Amino acid sequence: MDFSLTEEQLMIQQAARDFAQTELLPEVIERDDAQRFPKEEVKKMGELGFLGMMVDSKYGGSNLDTISYVLVMEELSKIDASASVIVSVNNSLVCWGLETYGSEAQKEKYLTRLATGEIIGAFCLSEPEAGSDATSQKTTAIDKDDHYLLNGTKNWITNGGTAEVYLVIAQTDREKGHKGINVLIVEKGMDGFEIGPKENKLGIRGSDTHSLNFNDVKVPKENRIGDDGFGFKFAMKTLAGGRIGIAAQALGIAAGAYELALKYSKERKAFGTEIANHQAIAFKLADMHTQIQAARHLVYKAAWDKDQGENYDLSGAMAKLYASKVAMDTTIEAVQVHGGNGFVKEYHVERLMRDAKITQIYEGTSEIQKIVISRSILRD
Ligand SMILES: Cc1cc2nc3c(=O)[nH]c(=O)nc-3n(C[C@H](O)[C@H](O)[C@H](O)COP(=O)(O)OP(=O)(O)OC[C@H]3O[C@@H](n4cnc5c(N)ncnc54)[C@H](O)[C@@H]3O)c2cc1C
Repeated sequence: MDFSLTEEQLMIQQAARDFAQTELLPEVIERDDAQRFPKEEVKKMGELGFLGMMVDSKYGGSNLDTISYVLVMEELSKIDASASVIVSVNNSLVCWGLETYGSEAQKEKYLTRLATGEIIGAFCLSEPEAGSDATSQKTTAIDKDDHYLLNGTKNWITNGGTAEVYLVIAQTDREKGHKGINVLIVEKGMDGFEIGPKENKLGIRGSDTHSLNFNDVKVPKENRIGDDGFGFKFAMKTLAGGRIGIAAQALGIAAGAYELALKYSKERKAFGTEIANHQAIAFKLADMHTQIQAARHLVYKAAWDKDQGENYDLSGAMAKLYASKVAMDTTIEAVQVHGGNGFVKEYHVERLMRDAKITQIYEGTSEIQKIVISRSILRD
């Protein structure tokens, strides 16, 4: 057993840390306030190779392992979880899905541009009446010989307004249930494809979340990924890996809040001494540190499983369930350690607390992770 990171992994971690400090931190509060998408920052992340981290270099990717990816996610999320969710969706859901299951022609047409960050992608599964219960897809993709006719609405789509390429899950043959679902590559600008207004959110406010409407959109047959009826499996497989990215996001949010609380507790004085000298505060820091370290082990183990070609459904679900709880608990305590200062924007911890909440909701709520985990342990 070897817990150490390689030289290359340490370098990538440092590069992400430096980028987060120099490029993300300066305007993170303004972006959160204004719900402004980090356009320039995303471009720079593309140049650093953060948007196609695990993609083969022949498609313009960085050809790195999942451990490197979670290290980057963790570092970016310490500062700006809005930026890191863009990285997560593009890497885990869009690039990974296309590279693993797409045809050579699809990879040539879309993957290189996505992996280099020239364009970004979106993953469109959720609907107004199909969230946790993703099999209840109302969006239809009717087979019209040389194309599919796409109709319906998708909800809560990250990168919804800024993406150029959308992987859309839709029902082709209702009688076949989840085996009648397909995944189609839809391009921005296709006739009948409309982007709804931007959501006004509690957290990750710099990310761009929209509903999408499809009205008789003609999607060419060659834009279907995989065989007919593969769409639901595609969604479940990509989300299993996506959870590792979101677990790393949660870990980073927790670690960012902890680092701020630790620093503040050594500076702020009350009753004639630094607050860290009060055991109530020191014990909070001890709990945070222990829980974050435990979450980190779960996240890295899930990433390691993926890199080893092991099944990561269980380890990814456990990592997301636990790390997202640690993110929520730690950020609440980090606000507490900051007292009144924790309640205002300049100290960053209130934003991290708001950002933490989404990690318990998207890519499978905590309740859904418990279903995945319990099914897995009861089956074994
Ligand atoms: C900011 C944001 C970004 C998002 N980005 C994307 C995206 O890019 N692409 C995409 O496809 N989706 C995205 N989503 C959607 C997200 O994945 C869903 O919101 C999530 O899966 C939950 O679905 P729901 O909102 O319909 O809640 P529901 O499924 O209605 O759940 C409501 C509550 O019931 C619980 N529940 C439901 N079923 C069960 C059960 N069987 N047992 C126990 N409890 C249950 C849930 O855990 C939850 O607490 C995003 C959401 C948000 C808020």
